[in-house]
Amino acid sequence: MVRVRLENVSKIFKGGVDAVKNLNLEVKDKEFVVLLGPSGCGKTTTLLMIAGVYKPTTGYIYFDDVVVNDLEPKDRNIGMVFQSYALYPHMTVYENIAFPLKLKKLSKQEIDERVKEVAKTLHIEDLLNRKPGQLSGGQQQRVALARAIVKRPQLFLMDEPLSNLDAKIRVEVRAELKRLQRDLGITTIYVTHDQAEAMSLADRVAVLNKGELQQYSTPEELYRNPANTFVAGFIGSPPANLLQADVVFEPQPRLEVAGAVFPLPQDIAQVLREKGETKVTLMVRPEHLVVRKGKTFTVYSVEWLGREEFAFLSAPDGTLIRAVLPPEERFNIGDGVEVSFDYGKVHFYRRSGELII
Ligand code: ATP
Repeated sequence: MVRVRLENVSKIFKGGVDAVKNLNLEVKDKEFVVLLGPSGCGKTTTLLMIAGVYKPTTGYIYFDDVVVNDLEPKDRNIGMVFQSYALYPHMTVYENIAFPLKLKKLSKQEIDERVKEVAKTLHIEDLLNRKPGQLSGGQQQRVALARAIVKRPQLFLMDEPLSNLDAKIRVEVRAELKRLQRDLGITTIYVTHDQAEAMSLADRVAVLNKGELQQYSTPEELYRNPANTFVAGFIGSPPANLLQADVVFEPQPRLEVAGAVFPLPQDIAQVLREKGETKVTLMVRPEHLVVRKGKTFTVYSVEWLGREEFAFLSAPDGTLIRAVLPPEERFNIGDGVEVSFDYGKVHFYRRSGELII
């Protein structure tokens, strides 16, 4: 397959829109990389530069060790799958899948073998004689995948390919896609704004915001050690709490957060003191808050999610804090609670967003 490397890649559109800023990214051979970020962060622009549809304004794109900036899309040996399936409505499923092979002028027999093989892989053998209009969304998306795979590309580029499917089918097709990519071993770059989708599919995730790479790591690393407050807030569901906190060192180290005071462990206080950080943002995930009966905070709302109970807690200054409640105790709206943090899992950031500890 192929290794893809972006070196100082930028894209400035006419009219001065800075869509992608100085992006450096390496996608290993056979790797599944997801480009993740909010709407307008430059994901699609990046993908289309890799596809050859857009030319970078600056920088270089390499496939293995070859610069491909001037290579036409059709000469890049890529398979593309988009949100809209873009199947030809007047052709049968068979003809749709066979189409790219006909363009390559393969023999009828080879086309037939390859179409049947890929149909089997994607469990659509029974659909080959139907027209796209007679298929469900999930089936149509599988046909679109089959048409991309049948060319035996060295690289898959996918832009929100599952977003037209309803939630249940999306999770099913997602699992199949992951397995298929593993089996075929085709290097894949996949665009989504859905962090759960990114976390479940990717070997590594590139988080983008406003055209800039924020962090490029495994899903686990993004969850455990977000590089800045943007990543901390974007990754995780329900989202992490990002709380403005004041650090006080004397007489005992403490944190003042949302009108409440929390003791601060000596080792963390030491680092913050050495770095001179007193105005910080505390990142604490809902599952890393320890909640027990008490009186400082109040339960504002409770949602039962089946496996766990999720709550908003109202702090003394009115700030709402997200928390997962301990399963062994019942809490009702209006109950008083105390809160503490699992300090092994929280992070401290500068107010400007960078990680301190
Ligand atoms: P979405 O999830 O909404 O598709 P995205 O992260 O894929 O967003 P892009 O489509 O890459 O974002 O767009 C990045 C920025 O570049 C946006 O501000 C967008 O308006 C702008 N942009 C994209 N394509 C063009 C174009 N052809 N001409 C001018 N500006 C563009």
